[in-house]
Amino acid sequence: MSFKNLQLIKPLLKGLITKNYEIPTLVQEKTIPLVLAKKDIIVTAQTGTGKTAAFALPILQLLFDKQDASKKGKKIRALILSPTRELALQIEEDFNSYGKYTNLRITVVFGGVSIDPQKEKLRKGVDILIATPGRLLDLHKQEYINLNFIETLVLDEADLMLDMGFINDVKKIDRLCNSEKQVLLFSATIPFKVEELAKSILKNFERIEVTRNSSVAKGVEQVIFYTPKPKKIELCLHLLRNSLKGNILIFRRTKFGVDKLEKTLLKNNYKAESIHGDKTQLARQEALSKFKNKEANILIATDVASRGIDIQNLDAVINFDIPNIPETYVHRIGRTGRAGKKGLALSFCSADEKNYIIDIQKLINQQIDVNQEHPYLLDPKDKPEIHKRKGSKHKKGRKSEASKKKKRRWY
Ligand code: AMP
Repeated sequence: MSFKNLQLIKPLLKGLITKNYEIPTLVQEKTIPLVLAKKDIIVTAQTGTGKTAAFALPILQLLFDKQDASKKGKKIRALILSPTRELALQIEEDFNSYGKYTNLRITVVFGGVSIDPQKEKLRKGVDILIATPGRLLDLHKQEYINLNFIETLVLDEADLMLDMGFINDVKKIDRLCNSEKQVLLFSATIPFKVEELAKSILKNFERIEVTRNSSVAKGVEQVIFYTPKPKKIELCLHLLRNSLKGNILIFRRTKFGVDKLEKTLLKNNYKAESIHGDKTQLARQEALSKFKNKEANILIATDVASRGIDIQNLDAVINFDIPNIPETYVHRIGRTGRAGKKGLALSFCSADEKNYIIDIQKLINQQIDVNQEHPYLLDPKDKPEIHKRKGSKHKKGRKSEASKKKKRRWY
């Protein structure tokens, strides 16, 4: 499945290219067609699943398609309610990057800051408004906001919104909006009060549930190597020379990265093959069969290229780049340690990727071992402050099997 298959229009596809997104996440695959069909939906999905794009992309498309002479008017046509200002800002940023080539006007308003600049932005005209409930009602009361023309209302993180006591505000905002609007409710969990709210606001809704695949096979030894980005290639060669044996799948985020690594490995006399989206089907099949026949023991791939192909029972998986979607990590390393066999999952993490590791550890509820004795360590000042992150649960996570072992294989 590609974004093109989801019938997204060119300006949005162009925006996605700049974001480097190649394939839709599961929640995007399921949600986008229903939003485009103007259905009301309840989506059970957590942050980290790609849920923002799941509503942002189709909303941008619906509004872009209907752009006409009235476009320069002051009609707000989509409203996204967020419980916190941090989330509101994040949503605005996402809308701006996905909608970069649409010319739609996107604005965010939230409490705790001066209201005047927000009034000014609203005066200029807005197509898509992201707001926290209190400030929205305040601006409405002062007649800076008219909700009569809202075509789509999104309640993001609805469970949190209700926990924070916004139920009456949300109901009020719903009543102030055009009654014909489409409503999309996103929530990590659907407790009774969210269900009740949904029943009172949504019409003939459909449900989408995206459960996170968070389980890692027991036999997989996971290790993180914190290292500067430019040193990753040297680290890879060092491990191949000293300890890594067997058939190895290396994941890289971009096609360019795959090609570059393949060249370096070939130059160093390793038997490497690669697959990515720019290679022909024939070239990909050839690479794959060489890997399977053991003519090559290293395969380098992007996530897209490796989807749906049968490469299992690997001795090791290397995350040369850390995936920004935590489920992708689980998916990648699920190709090793199968059927009770031992497997290795090594992750090369540069300073700018350390937040991805935090999200991964939260998802798998496990703290991953760190190798601190390789020759290409990160500068100490770039060390991740994993335990300081607010809301992180993995401190309580069970110790990994590998961490219990006295003797390590990695130095
Ligand atoms: P969210 O669940 O909306 O907070 O998104 C989680 C992260 O995934 C954000 O960093 C997004 O930028 C990123 N993301 C969303 N969709 C995709 C995609 N299709 N491919 C790669 N990254 C994505």
